[in-house]
Amino acid sequence: MVKYTSLSYFSCMNKHNFSAGPSILPQEVFQQGAQAVLNFNDSGLSILEISHRSKEFYAVVDEAVELIKELLSLPEHYKVLFLQGGASMQFDMVPYNLLPEGGVASFLDTGVWSSKAIKEANKFGQTSIVASSKEDNYSFIPKEYTIDASATYFHITTNNTIYGTELLEFPSSLIPMVADMSSDIFSRPMDFSPFSLVYAGAQKNLGPAGATLVILREDILGKTGRDLAAMWDYRTFIKENSLYNTPSVYAIYICLLTLRWLKAQGGVVEMERRNILKANTMYAEIDRNPLFYGQVNTEDRSRMNAVFRLHDETLEDKFMTHVKEYGIVGIKGHRLSGGFRASMYNALPLESVEVLVGAMQEFEKMQ
Ligand SMILES: *Cc1c(COP(=O)(O)O)cnc(C)c1O
Repeated sequence: MVKYTSLSYFSCMNKHNFSAGPSILPQEVFQQGAQAVLNFNDSGLSILEISHRSKEFYAVVDEAVELIKELLSLPEHYKVLFLQGGASMQFDMVPYNLLPEGGVASFLDTGVWSSKAIKEANKFGQTSIVASSKEDNYSFIPKEYTIDASATYFHITTNNTIYGTELLEFPSSLIPMVADMSSDIFSRPMDFSPFSLVYAGAQKNLGPAGATLVILREDILGKTGRDLAAMWDYRTFIKENSLYNTPSVYAIYICLLTLRWLKAQGGVVEMERRNILKANTMYAEIDRNPLFYGQVNTEDRSRMNAVFRLHDETLEDKFMTHVKEYGIVGIKGHRLSGGFRASMYNALPLESVEVLVGAMQEFEKMQ
């Protein structure tokens, strides 16, 4: 078995990757992940060929689940599942498992992902929208609203990856709360006790595409009156410890490596410190540089995804070509919001933000 340890295999190391997801992961995770493809835990086998029923893989799932509970300080009675299908599948699975026919799911509409969740929930029951910033192109987080106390649950999207807004403070709700935390889970300490169910596609802060994290309280299940299909029933996966059928073995393993890295770095407290520093550095330049502006409400700015534009949009292509010279990739804005988006997930070093800021300053001088 060949052992690859040379860093020269990792050409990714000279790029500054601001992609919104799938996104940058820690360099040592890439290295350890590559190593495990060739020889997993010195077993002489690749992680890609081991059985998901092997005791080695059970240990991977168990350690990942324990680390998630520890790093997020989850209350003891919460279940942690690895599913597939991404956050988008949760848009269906949540109402299918929680919302009785005729029941109402209530939503805070803060962007594309919230509205997709609303659209899907409508197929399983009714929905109500407590507040929406859609008319203002989702440029702020609505704060004054009343949660419908007769609804079955209240759903929020904690970070709006496309528009670049984030709920740094959570609303308090008397009814069960559900959150899509795909793009800011593990980015800072959060209190999970108000939530009955939280979901996140792994590919932003946790790992590669292909694994979906679901955290839930079992007592919210089994109340819809539906006879649930096995693969769509959270209880199936709770009972089988995420191993009902073949899970995304490799994706889960990469999540484990990322979680180990996270713990070694100092956990979510340290991530928050770094993420605040990166976000402050980025937004300071957007506000200072006369060529650029940020289009969302300052107090709602996301620490994960800084969305910004050029006053003179005819310079966009020129700026994209300019940043390429610095090894900067992934800053083109989402097609719905336009402009640029710098995603600064946990694994993105401050240095990358400084390089982008330097490129913006250089671009200013060139005009
Ligand atoms: C990326 C993202 C999604 C979509 O995730 P998929 O895994 O592609 O289904 C949903 N919600 C939020 C907040 C996201 O950032």
